[in-house]
Amino acid sequence: MFNRAVALMDLPPGLEEKIRVCNATYTVRFGVRLRGQIQTFTGYRSVHSEHMEPVKGGIRYALGVNQDEVEALAALMTYKCALVEAPFGGSKGGLCLDPRQYEEYELEMITRRFAYELAKRDLIHPSQNVPAPDMGTGEREMSWIADQYARMNTTDINAKACVTGKPPHAGGIQGRTEATGRGVQYAIQEFFRHPSDKKKAGITGGLEGKTVVVQGLGNVGYHAAKFLSEEDGCKVIGIIERDGALVDPKGLNVEAVRNWIGKHGGVAGFADGKFVEDGSKVLEEECDILVPAALEGVINMGNAANIKAPLIVEAANGPVTAGADEILRDKGAVIIPDMYANAGGVTVSYFEWVKNLSHIRFGRMGRRQEEARHQLIVDELERLSAASEVGWELTPNFKEKYLRGAGELELVRSGLDDTMRTAYQACSKVWNERDDVTDLRTASYLVAIDKVATAYRAKGL
Ligand code: NAD
Repeated sequence: MFNRAVALMDLPPGLEEKIRVCNATYTVRFGVRLRGQIQTFTGYRSVHSEHMEPVKGGIRYALGVNQDEVEALAALMTYKCALVEAPFGGSKGGLCLDPRQYEEYELEMITRRFAYELAKRDLIHPSQNVPAPDMGTGEREMSWIADQYARMNTTDINAKACVTGKPPHAGGIQGRTEATGRGVQYAIQEFFRHPSDKKKAGITGGLEGKTVVVQGLGNVGYHAAKFLSEEDGCKVIGIIERDGALVDPKGLNVEAVRNWIGKHGGVAGFADGKFVEDGSKVLEEECDILVPAALEGVINMGNAANIKAPLIVEAANGPVTAGADEILRDKGAVIIPDMYANAGGVTVSYFEWVKNLSHIRFGRMGRRQEEARHQLIVDELERLSAASEVGWELTPNFKEKYLRGAGELELVRSGLDDTMRTAYQACSKVWNERDDVTDLRTASYLVAIDKVATAYRAKGL
């Protein structure tokens, strides 16, 4: 995919290769005493590009974690950060383990030891390398990592900025947990604001009533499906999980399915909809928007030809293989690529990092002042209304809504929405204006690689 894009660019000799390669990958093996014996774990932290520092990227806990995967995901982080103008290089980490096999206190011991091994080599560091959550990790793990780093760097006043995705009470930011799913929603909303792009996918009308199939009801998939159904009027007609899928043409209640999974570990047995044991078959269901939000490589040469959705939104990283990408392009499907679609997480991580470094919550200084100024206008409107012979009234709720100054969550959502819109517009422009660019993925790569190349040109090697 990278090669397809650089073939259309005019980069100085050698720069293409410099950008392509992964700068460094650190492999660590460490032992933890668990259940009466020593267990050895293998972990990675890969740094793809340091054209900007710190480098940024999640830490994944999964059995399939390996060096190739971590390096590919680190590269994707470089382009993702460049595309959404988060001032970071790209990195990624992973630990080979299935977190569901361990008790919470065991996971804490493993996470702290992994964090120690990485921090010791500045592979966790507020100005060098800042991890975040990914598959199999969340607020809890980030909180342990932050605490471990702080214990090792007791005088570092910026210690909290060593990792993002922390819970709000431990240095996190409002809206980080929902951020990637929220970003997926904003990405789809922005796509729907571009008539020429919708036309390319053969989609008409607005989001209201559009049918959605989502794979993976974890952090990203759950939030994306919840917001699309509760706020945009979409109908989630299919949910695919580890143990199978649920299909209901009338639309599934995302919240209820999520609660069911929380209690029973899977979707089987849920009261509504039809249970399909071979969940991956539901990727081929007739729908308007397909949102793979679980694993990589799920849409591949084996099933790409059967995918019917005209719009595929890569909420997960790498859900469509290069071969499948070609088949889908030939079929005329539009793919909103991972590099852009799931960039909401790193965008809000950027806000969290800035918050940690500035040591103040967003909105704290300006909120009441903003409210006071709005109050002036409302008072004046009410005075004019009382003085007017016609006698008019403010719309119910107007006062309440207008008077309320923006708190941290509103500001985070506003910054995220702006970021997602701006990045989409840059990609869409390239897609629509260049005859040699026929898909959004290539357009995104062009925008992102150009920014990385510009940074290298400016600062030298
Ligand atoms: P998660 O662990 O919270 O959720 C993953 C979900 O997928 C779980 O519900 C799991 O049961 C389900 N799943 C696993 N195997 C499956 C299978 N074979 N079929 C169907 N469902 C399956 O992970 P997440 O954080 O939501 O991440 C999902 C994807 O999004 C990953 O590709 C990740 O790299 C990407 N991503 C995450 C973030 C973030 O902020 N968390 C940011 C950017 C990208």
